Amino acid sequence: ELGPRLKTVASFLEGVTLLCDVGSDHAYLPVYAIQQGLITHAIAGEVVKGPYESAMQTVQDYVLNDKISVRLGDGLDVVTSEDEVKAISICGMGGELIARILEQGRVNGTLTGNEKLVLQPNVAEHLLRQWLVDHHYEILEEVVVEDHHRLYEIIVAEKREESVPLTATQIKFGPKLIENPTDLVIRKWERQLRKIEEILTQLKQSKEIPIEKVETFNHQYLELKGLID
Ligand code: SAM
Repeated sequence: ELGPRLKTVASFLEGVTLLCDVGSDHAYLPVYAIQQGLITHAIAGEVVKGPYESAMQTVQDYVLNDKISVRLGDGLDVVTSEDEVKAISICGMGGELIARILEQGRVNGTLTGNEKLVLQPNVAEHLLRQWLVDHHYEILEEVVVEDHHRLYEIIVAEKREESVPLTATQIKFGPKLIENPTDLVIRKWERQLRKIEEILTQLKQSKEIPIEKVETFNHQYLELKGLID
């Protein structure tokens, strides 16, 4: 049974004819999305041999070889010009790595801009949002989901002709999360707040207090506090 994290990712893929799931590992996401009738076909990309073989095995077990093409390769290199990819999912990696995969695709032309992006960064969400803004993507939806006691952000974006700018605060904390701070969003921010408090306590205990660092974290602290209250 697929967990709430990837189930929520799948819910954003409804109606997609060809999905490219980058870093698919066991290919559970494309298999589930096809079984649920959300998508019709998928490419499951993996750069590491072991997970690539796991993906092949899952697809074989579910007899979905005619619907899911499992491919070994780095990021969007697995996509060819013949594929008409309608959506790209990149989940369970750091925001920086996801941004790097998108950037490489943009430079190589394997990311055309016609795809809906469904992204689930584990950390450094702000770096991913910065990349999206820099390349004229509009963030359409954002949610926080809980899975195994961890809180994950999911970001859905589409490319626009013109830039869709965001403020520094929106990039840091998510424009749609700020707009609609659900209980889980608030909980994620409260966890961040506690972490900043710990860092500040430690910084203030050091022999020579690093004033600049303290000020940066103080600023973040107040920003978050302002969003929660
Ligand atoms: N997407 C799945 C999920 O969300 O449960 C698997 C996440 S797993 C933590 C990350 C996977 O991404 C690994 O299987 C890893 O091999 C793969 N990966 C990392 N960098 C990649 C890249 N540049 N191209 C393709 N796959 C990559």
